Formats: sequence, structure tokens, C-alpha cells
Amino acid sequence: DVMDRSHDGRQPRANMQELDAALTQLADSLMPTAAEHQAQLDVFEGVKALLQARYPGARVHLFGSVANGLSVRHNNDIDVCLELEGVDDQAGKAEVAVAVGELMEAAGMAEVLPLPKARVPVVKFVAPQTGTKCDVTVNNVLACINTKLLADYCAIDPRLAPLVALVKHWAKRRAVNDPYRGTLSSYCYVLMCIHLLQMRPTPVLPVLQQLPPTFRRTVGPWTCEFCDDVESLRGFGAPNRESLAQLVWAFFEYWAWRHNYSHDVVCVRLGTCLHKDDKDWTRRIGNERHLVCIEDPFELSHDLGRTVDRQTRAVLHKEFTRAATLLRDAHDPLDMLFASY
Ligand code: ATP
Ligand code: MG
Repeated sequence: DVMDRSHDGRQPRANMQELDAALTQLADSLMPTAAEHQAQLDVFEGVKALLQARYPGARVHLFGSVANGLSVRHNNDIDVCLELEGVDDQAGKAEVAVAVGELMEAAGMAEVLPLPKARVPVVKFVAPQTGTKCDVTVNNVLACINTKLLADYCAIDPRLAPLVALVKHWAKRRAVNDPYRGTLSSYCYVLMCIHLLQMRPTPVLPVLQQLPPTFRRTVGPWTCEFCDDVESLRGFGAPNRESLAQLVWAFFEYWAWRHNYSHDVVCVRLGTCLHKDDKDWTRRIGNERHLVCIEDPFELSHDLGRTVDRQTRAVLHKEFTRAATLLRDAHDPLDMLFASY
């Protein structure tokens, strides 16, 4: 039952120090090497040169996990934003996505796939030399800003990046990291990790959007404001002494047994949970079901869980419960925890 919250939340059975050492080692092995990171930056530079030859003077940004320090090795993809003056509406962005598709085709990129009708029009392709998958979007300013927010959270406490690496790895292995099939995006899992660290009894992360803002941008109807003075916030989480293993356990335990799926909205902006009533996310509207609710930190009308339906919510909850149960009951849970689905 998705709503079963009756569990008493005991501690894991494994030796926590050993579990922590193993998880830390696994997280390290998931982080790209300097050479792999450089290879992705090289692909970005190549794509940027092609775009700037076609659109002289345009700015081209790298965003997503390669830019915010949260990439894991299994996911060899880069996110690129082309900034063009005067292309603001959906139709204009869709047109550019098609044009960029033709450009990349002509430049010898493989598997070129324009998706002009997507919520965020995009063209996907693969750089053939390295096999790097690229997504190019147009004037995707909010994504560039949320990338910076995530990077700033990463810089504040060194436990966020390894926690994200392990959760992303788990989600890939357990086949619950595919928003097109009703599960959750990587970006959504990162927000869930940040939220967990904000909500620890002794917080590991601050709530950057609740501090006096030092960064301000307006994007259409959305005001993006937060404190980006990470230098003064380094060490914020030091009073919390929880290990990576304890935080991984807390993550799965929360999503298995503590999150109230019928009422709660995860809100990184406020560092708390809102009620679905607060957002009017209480019923299905079109394809937006609001069964698992995670508020985007800037685009406040955007529920990152909107892709989840009843069936995939049950799958997600089953996987969270499986992970928490393994961590609680197994002497040596790791092989099972990350076993391929
Ligand atoms: P991965 O390592 O799996 O590629 P990622 O952090 O790059 O993970 P993606 O899902 O590829 O995550 O998304 C790339 C970026 O696009 C995110 O960092 C975020 O800035 C933006 N983004 C992705 N999905 C959304 C969304 N649904 N709403 C708003 N921004 C999003
Ligand atoms: Mg990405």
C-alpha cells in the first residue's frame, strides 16, 4: 500500500562505519575522472563553435549536471543552451530546434532528433567521436539559473554530491529515472536530496531562497532570487555530523515511510513541505496528476512529479521501500540495493 506509514523507523542493521566506507568508495567511483570531464567540455566547445558560426554573436551556455558538479559516469550527456535575442515564444523556440537539428545533421552528428513540440523544445544528438549525448535548448534561462542554484548548494556541503551520485545510480539501476515513462528526472532526484539535507533535525544545507538575496533575475513571470554567497556559508552543515551512510538511509526511509504522498509537496524554496491545498495541486488537471509533488524552486507552477501516474507511483514507492528495507534489515545490503532491475 502506497500510504503505509505505520513503520517505526528503526536503524539499519549493518555496521554503519563499514557501510559508510563502502558507500563513500562507490560514490567516488561514480564521479567522472578529470579526463572524462574534460572530454565533455571539449564536446561542448565543439557544439558551441557550430552554433556560433550559424548564429553569430549568440551566447551558448553549458548547464545541467556537467555544469553543476553532479554528473555520474553512466550518464554521458551534456545540456547546452543557445541564447538568442527575440526568440521567446514556444513557436520561435520550436523553429530554432528544427534549424539546429539540420545544422547538427550537416555537421556530422549522429542520431539527430529534434523535439520541437516538447514542453521545452529541444534537439538531441550524439557527438560521434566520443558518444556524448547532447541536448540543445533555446533560451532555457530558468534551467541555467537552477543549475547555478544546484551548484551553489553543492559547494556548501561536501555530502550533497556523493548523496546525489548514489541516488542517481540507484534510480538508473532500478529503472525509476525516466520522466518519459512516468518516473522521475535526475533534476527531480537532486531536489529531493537537497530537501532532505535542509530538513535534517540539524540541517546540512541552508535554504538559499530564504536568505537575503545576492543573486536576482526575472524570467518571464518568475522572480529568481537567492543567496549565492557560498563562501560565507561553507561550513553551514558542520554541526550535523551524519555520515553519507546515515543520509542515504534517511533518504530512503523518508520516501518509504515518512513522506505523506496524499498531502505533501516537497519545497526546496522554503526548505519545508507545503500542503497540496496550498498549491491547488489536489486533483488531476489534464495530464498533470500531482500524485507525487516536488515544486520547482523557480517555476512555481511546475510540479516535477507531474509525470507520475498511479501505477508509476506504486512502482516508485515499492522501490523506495525495497531500498529502505534492505538498508534496515540486511547485514550487507549494497549489492542488492544497486542490483539492476
Ligand atoms: P544527468 O546527470 O542524469 O544528466 P542532470 O542533472 O543533467 O542529470 P537532467 O535531467 O539532464 O539532469 O536535466 C538537465 C538540467 O535541465 C537540470 O539540471 C535542470 O537545470 C534542467 N531541467 C531538467 N528537467 C527540468 C524540469 N523538468 N524543469 C526545469 N528544469 C529542468
Ligand atoms: Mg543532463
